[in-house]
Amino acid sequence: ESEVRLATATEETNLLRAKLAEARDTARRDTLTGLPNRRAFDEAFAARDLDAGPYCLAVCDVDRFKRVNDAFGHGVGDRVLTVIGQTIAEGCGGHLVVRHGGEEFAVLMQGVSLSDAAALLDSVRAMVAAKRFRNRETDRPLGQVTFSAGVTAIHADETAEAAFLRADRLLYTAKGDGRDRVCTA
Ligand code: GH3
Ligand code: MG
Ligand code: MG
Repeated sequence: ESEVRLATATEETNLLRAKLAEARDTARRDTLTGLPNRRAFDEAFAARDLDAGPYCLAVCDVDRFKRVNDAFGHGVGDRVLTVIGQTIAEGCGGHLVVRHGGEEFAVLMQGVSLSDAAALLDSVRAMVAAKRFRNRETDRPLGQVTFSAGVTAIHADETAEAAFLRADRLLYTAKGDGRDRVCTA
């Protein structure tokens, strides 16, 4: 009888463990795009290995995204956002790509120089700009959808907020310079 009780308890423990692991994963994932979320980013930022070479941060923001929603509806906007997020994640394979908020994605790059990080982001920018988005229902083209990005080197002793402030300023410059571009400094 005690063996049966032990087996049941073990089974329950395993079930709870699996549920806990799932809850942990859910808490760090964005439900729309399936990408890791801001919380995952903050944890990875705090846990970065300073002996593992330089880190860079990119902040990507979809250009004129409000227009996509206004012209085609929020549902289409959601799908465009998902495709862009997945394209950035594929293009930056091996680095942490998160949905940081609304139509913004952040990339944490490890062991990459600033110029290599900027080149990587620019290649992903070109991949997205070359996509031919179509409305799933009507098969009509949605027109070009692009993003702009700010890329900066992360200092060893700074907070995520400080790095984001710099990347955001560069992003702002990219927007001002005409969008669909990557700014770095
Ligand atoms: P800019 O080039 O200056 O970034 O222009 P923008 O239109 O992208 O900027 P703005 O910040 O004015 O608009 C962002 C839009 O993104 C507004 C908001 O409705 C939309 N958005 C944010 N999150 C989501 C989402 O999860 N789904 C959809 N469909 N739209 C979203
Ligand atoms: Mg934005
Ligand atoms: Mg935008």
